[in-house]
Amino acid sequence: MEDQMTDNKHNNLYRVLAFYLFTSVENPHDKVKDLAKFFQGVDAKARIYISQDGINGQMSIHKDDLDVFLEWMNHIPCFSKIDFKIHDYHSHAFAKCTVKYKEQLVALDRDVDLNLMGKHVSPSEWGRMIEEKDDSTIMIDVRNNYESKVGHFKGAIKPDLDSFREFPSYVEQLKKEVDPAKTKVMMYCTGGIRCELYSSLMKEEGFEEVYQLEGGVIKYGLEEGNKHWNGNLFVFDDRLVVPISEEKNEIISTCHFCNEKTDVYYNCANMDCNDLFVSCKSCIEIADGCCSSQCQQSARKRSFDSSKVPVPYRKLSQEEKQNLAQT
Ligand SMILES: [Zn+2]
Ligand SMILES: [Zn+2]
Repeated sequence: MEDQMTDNKHNNLYRVLAFYLFTSVENPHDKVKDLAKFFQGVDAKARIYISQDGINGQMSIHKDDLDVFLEWMNHIPCFSKIDFKIHDYHSHAFAKCTVKYKEQLVALDRDVDLNLMGKHVSPSEWGRMIEEKDDSTIMIDVRNNYESKVGHFKGAIKPDLDSFREFPSYVEQLKKEVDPAKTKVMMYCTGGIRCELYSSLMKEEGFEEVYQLEGGVIKYGLEEGNKHWNGNLFVFDDRLVVPISEEKNEIISTCHFCNEKTDVYYNCANMDCNDLFVSCKSCIEIADGCCSSQCQQSARKRSFDSSKVPVPYRKLSQEEKQNLAQT
């Protein structure tokens, strides 16, 4: 009874899950079919990719269906070791239920030996490493620029990356600035999967000591709260920006048009632009949902309703689709 009252109070009837696991999957196409079939019987929306190398998923599910889902996954031997990161939310965070086979869980325009991998660091160890960090250690936020803009670890390097495909050239550049053999690297991303690839890539490039935050910022927030963290967390679903823990945290980004502090993201209403940008409520109304006056003139402009909570534009560009698949 008490539980129900609390739930009604917060309206948090849904659970948002993030998970991935690199593991050998037999008959991945069958696993896709089984999971899609399972979802027909529960109240869930998802974006899940399965390959012969593992699974990468994000989803929202009604709280009453959560246990049956976790149990179902637990009964599939190759998925029984998944570490699910779970948040409460008042509605679904995805528009549809997508379960697909994907040849590469994390695609990068080059092959990387995933066996190299950095040393996985638990959230509490990560916090300690930040406190003890010396001059020969760098901490890299390996996410894209629009992600680190609304929140990041204090003291992190935030490379100006528009997409994950730019990371290899960033590493090339970094090698000219620091000595890979003498520089200790700490890296983090949203849920940990990008670091699996990027840490391997950095090791291939000669960085000898590489550490990656296990479970990413999501797990860190759940276990360590806001300690050492500034701002909020960008996520690739309808929530767009979420706090990393229940502790109150400040907004660090400012409106694209004025200087007001805000971290509400909008997709430019011009379909040919579709840029993600942060705006305050009054500026987005004046701009009619667009990032610039040029976009406002576009013939391919969607109608904009400022009274609606902004959600990501559904028809995504190829690049954005790729980005979404990465997290
Ligand atoms: Zn503004
Ligand atoms: Zn625009």
